[in-house]
Amino acid sequence: MIILVINAGSSSVKFTLFRMEDEAELASGIVGRIGLAGTRLNYKNFKGGNLGKEVFVADAVEAVGIIAGVLTDDRYGVIDGEKDITAVGHRVVHGGEKITDSVIIEDSVKEIIKKCSTLAPLHNPHNFKGIEASERHFPGALQVAVFDTAFHATIPEHAFLYGLPYRLYHQDRIRRYGFHGISHKHVSGEAARFLDMPLDALKLITCHLGNGCSITAVEGGKSIDTSMGFTPLEGLMMGSRCGDLDPAIVLFLMEHKQLGYKEINELLNKQSGLLGVADIGSSDLRDILSAKASGNHQAGIAVKTFTYRIKKYIGAYIAAMGGVDAIVFTAGIGENSPIIRESVCDGLQRTNGLKIILDPEKNKAGNNKLGEIQSCLSRVKILVVPTNEAREIAQQTLQLLQPLEKNGMT
Ligand code: AMP
Repeated sequence: MIILVINAGSSSVKFTLFRMEDEAELASGIVGRIGLAGTRLNYKNFKGGNLGKEVFVADAVEAVGIIAGVLTDDRYGVIDGEKDITAVGHRVVHGGEKITDSVIIEDSVKEIIKKCSTLAPLHNPHNFKGIEASERHFPGALQVAVFDTAFHATIPEHAFLYGLPYRLYHQDRIRRYGFHGISHKHVSGEAARFLDMPLDALKLITCHLGNGCSITAVEGGKSIDTSMGFTPLEGLMMGSRCGDLDPAIVLFLMEHKQLGYKEINELLNKQSGLLGVADIGSSDLRDILSAKASGNHQAGIAVKTFTYRIKKYIGAYIAAMGGVDAIVFTAGIGENSPIIRESVCDGLQRTNGLKIILDPEKNKAGNNKLGEIQSCLSRVKILVVPTNEAREIAQQTLQLLQPLEKNGMT
């Protein structure tokens, strides 16, 4: 069975084609800079074929047309025709409270995705366009939506409520939703497999540290708390997002700096985090680490602030779960930066009884591959687990299809 995964964003459509019998990645790529000058298709297939070329597309519908074309192309294609694709799995950021799992896309689901655009204006409208484009170009395939918020649907009320008047939750659904759920779920499952333990017997803390960063307490395979909240701005400090903040700072900026909605939005989302604190003109941790190494004080303090907050959340989630069996590092920074992993774990070895102790050599050698990096004296496992959101979407899509297949409905 062949499943196509589509991740449609504001200016790009990413795609991966899987053969599910052996979960082989047949092809993948991106149509980037959609609607801008220099729109490009970058594509590779499992036979070693690589293609990079300028394409002329105005929107997501045309981008998905390009994807359908290259997948079936005489020279670069890997399938005979669109009919070979059984299902298309779409990444959708926000499913609100009503959607708690992956779903086959029907009109009612589309309505919910559209409605949730007010909660995720930068993502849901584009995810929705990707679905419509895919319905047009792959009419014979089943369309499935896999939501970033769904994994966090198990967070209990006491953890998802803010200390605001209850009516704001009741009427306006202002609450913690959580994001990066596809990644947190994926690495939780991979960690359990690696540890050879049933997921429902484990207490995990999964640290997704990329351009966006979030951390989740996963108890018995279920998210019970996560650092991102009503929007992906809350929680850890990120590349250019501030994370947790005293809300009175916003009031101060309005009253004393005369900043309006747009400027504050830009400041908190685009000018803060590692970018804002280090102030070296880059949000890329590699640049900030090299500035730190050449003695830049602000770069050093940005890294310390970043890792200190991760450590605080780890402490909070140990308290929330009454312990932890494994701490998992994933995404661009989590998978590739031994310095950050070391700085996060520094001091945790003193936690009473828990003994969270990193092995410096295993940590240095542990980049970019599934493995454990704790010392033999550590009671808690410390893992690096590469995330693969596309694969997780394909797996969840397959799970939805299996009952239909048994009934001969695909
Ligand atoms: P992601 O959003 O998961 O693609 O992660 C992107 C971020 O990972 C980049 O902004 C970098 O800051 C970070 N990153 C990638 N490779 C490394 C590395 N070798 N060392 C430190 N940070 C890295």
